[in-house]
Amino acid sequence: MFKYTSIEQYHIDLLNGRATCVQAVRFYLNSIKEHRHLNAFVQVYEEEALRKAEALDKKRTSGTSKPGRLHGVVIALKDVICYKDHPVSAASKILQNFTSVYNATAVEKLLAEEAIIIGHCNCDEFAMGSTNENSAYGRVLNGIDETKVPGGSSGGSAVAVQTDCCMVSLGSDTGGSVRQPADFCGVVGMKPSYGRISRYGLIAYASSFDQIGIFAKNISDIALVLETISGADEFDSTCSLKPVPAFSTQLTSETSRKYRVAYFKEALESEALDPEIRSRLKHFTEKLQSDGHIVEPVDFEYLDYIVPTYYILTTAEASSNLSRFDGVRYGYRDVDKKNDLAAFYCQTRSGGFGWEVKKRIMLGNFVLSAGYYDAYFTKAQQVRQLLLQKTKLIFSRFDVLILPTSPTTAYPFGEKTADPIAMYLSDIFTVFCNLTGLPGISLPLFWHSNGLPFGVQAMTNQFSELSLLQLSNQWMQQYREERN
Ligand code: GLN
Repeated sequence: MFKYTSIEQYHIDLLNGRATCVQAVRFYLNSIKEHRHLNAFVQVYEEEALRKAEALDKKRTSGTSKPGRLHGVVIALKDVICYKDHPVSAASKILQNFTSVYNATAVEKLLAEEAIIIGHCNCDEFAMGSTNENSAYGRVLNGIDETKVPGGSSGGSAVAVQTDCCMVSLGSDTGGSVRQPADFCGVVGMKPSYGRISRYGLIAYASSFDQIGIFAKNISDIALVLETISGADEFDSTCSLKPVPAFSTQLTSETSRKYRVAYFKEALESEALDPEIRSRLKHFTEKLQSDGHIVEPVDFEYLDYIVPTYYILTTAEASSNLSRFDGVRYGYRDVDKKNDLAAFYCQTRSGGFGWEVKKRIMLGNFVLSAGYYDAYFTKAQQVRQLLLQKTKLIFSRFDVLILPTSPTTAYPFGEKTADPIAMYLSDIFTVFCNLTGLPGISLPLFWHSNGLPFGVQAMTNQFSELSLLQLSNQWMQQYREERN
């Protein structure tokens, strides 16, 4: 029976002959079948994954070349990441039957290190949502409690890791879409600094926020995948030229380091926060302190502004990014009105996009319109600037900032669909990271008395992923609660 704990252990097992890539792929394909009703996958590349596993087993046992860093690692991709010659749709009807014509840079790098891509995962349409209820393929169920949402927008990628349908998965995080579903599903979810991983081949939602993120069950897997897919890319000029540290080999070099930890007082006192999450996180800060870390509250006077700022800027960017889906160049097309161009665009876009996406395109056009531009868009850019100044101040005094990941644990389907404001407000703790470009991670440390998992979110200064991963490793070992 194939058993997985980490990439490192899997590689040891492969070299000792205790496991094969074919066994691994069969195990995950079986698990995908068993969990089909959760609707986490929109495509499964069964034959191809098996063929690739056979080839890797052959290559490894022949000993002719050194195995790649992700040799035989079984990975799933969110349906917004391009994998050449495979369908990709951003869970939208407007990209129905569209096939990627190139690989995303992150995928190129995974394949170069011999990873096996097992499928594409369900998500909210164009990554817009917090529950995975906005998908053209239907909702995804949370594997821990099928009556609850898995979070979003990368809900399928989170559930795929949660239910052992792959070793690791990629998602995208524009305002929390990796960290929040990780929180709801009890797995680790990391969003690196803006510019750490190339966005080439990631279908855009809001370009100055979007970042590919990683789901896994432990920190060492995140570190290894992150160092493999990060780094400068001539196809994405917003991707940083900074060298990528060897995260995976330095993970345990600071196991007893004491950190200077900040938290936002207003966040922990926020009315929106579930009382049990609040008291457990307070207790956590006390525990950190008694273990020798310095923990201090910092004032955060902008808490009420961050969600509006996020939704103004992201919808503005989305309205521009999504204008390319016009029915002419690719994807879904409504041919009824082909003799009237304006009617053709209107018909195609009305029929191809779902409600949430249409709402955001309209909101984005509104905040960018001549009469309102300064009142909304310019103002929001100014707030973004203030937030950046705030982070400079925080990280001149502290190593890490902690926040809840989400105000609540996973909730029932439909609970927030009728109240979009409540849905947007639930992003209150995650959007800060994207507005400021910081790296952030959700660590699944706790279990609520309602039987659901929840985590704590940690953030470090821009491009300080190494210390974020080191402290995550330390905290996962020291503070992770067993499920009871
Ligand atoms: N829930 C947020 C939104 O709906 C985050 C989305 C994301 O990170 N892609 O915009």
